[in-house]
Amino acid sequence: MRFSNQRVIISGGTRGLGRAASLAFLSEGALVQATYRGNEEAAEELRSLAGDNVERLTLTRCDVSQEAEVQALWDEIGDQPISVLINNAGIRRDALMPLMDKADWQTVLDTNLTGGYLMSRGAVKNMMAQRYGRILFVTSPTSRIGFQGQTNYGASKAGQIGLTRSLCKEVASRGITVNCVSPGFIATELLDDLPPELIKEYKKSVPARRFGKPEEVAAALMFLASADAAYINGTTLEVAGGI
Ligand code: NDP
Repeated sequence: MRFSNQRVIISGGTRGLGRAASLAFLSEGALVQATYRGNEEAAEELRSLAGDNVERLTLTRCDVSQEAEVQALWDEIGDQPISVLINNAGIRRDALMPLMDKADWQTVLDTNLTGGYLMSRGAVKNMMAQRYGRILFVTSPTSRIGFQGQTNYGASKAGQIGLTRSLCKEVASRGITVNCVSPGFIATELLDDLPPELIKEYKKSVPARRFGKPEEVAAALMFLASADAAYINGTTLEVAGGI
């Protein structure tokens, strides 16, 4: 029970990696607030998966790209101490550069990067008062190695790493750490649109020769979110099977 009575906010905590993290933190005693953009069905599914831990789960609809919605979330939280924020909400809108609409560029940046900034701004204010906190971003190896069609996604994920490195320097003296976890290919709905041939090719490219599991990413998030990781700050932990 590493997170007994700790409040943990997980953006995009209702599906995929976020859902696995929500369930993992609940199983270790945390009070989990899982946010989502609009898929009520997936949120209700998480509620039923939580089982006996359901009384420690709060589900909140909040689009991280909308400043007013994020502000409303932090206003509602008020003085309740938040121990962990996981900036996990993320989307892809892939296209080769000449075919990439400005809207697809902007919506990916607004969700993955600006959303993380808006959520973290509220968290920093809350955590400074407690002199304790853990802020995590779920970035991607795209930021490091690049993928065709992902200039928007890659820029947003590299931006999360840059934000992390600067923010950790602002808050380290207050007992707050800011780190990234960088998952490789993980079987979630985010990859549902990839054609089977490409999935095969990607699997071959992973030294581990398989895609990762959401639970394997959750385990890394939990380590960096734990008290044990107090001296790890401003870094990126790759959970990518060797990519
Ligand atoms: P999924 O598509 O399975 O789930 C995305 C979650 O984010 C959902 O809960 C969704 O809510 C939420 N979300 C999306 N947009 C917003 C928004 N604007 N505001 C609030 N919540 C939002 O994605 P994954 O679990 O696969 O991905 C999670 C994170 O991991 C992302 O940041 C992704 O970039 C990153 N990642 C994923 C990899 C993978 O292979 N799967 C690899 C590397 C990184 P709703 O259900 O309401 O739509």
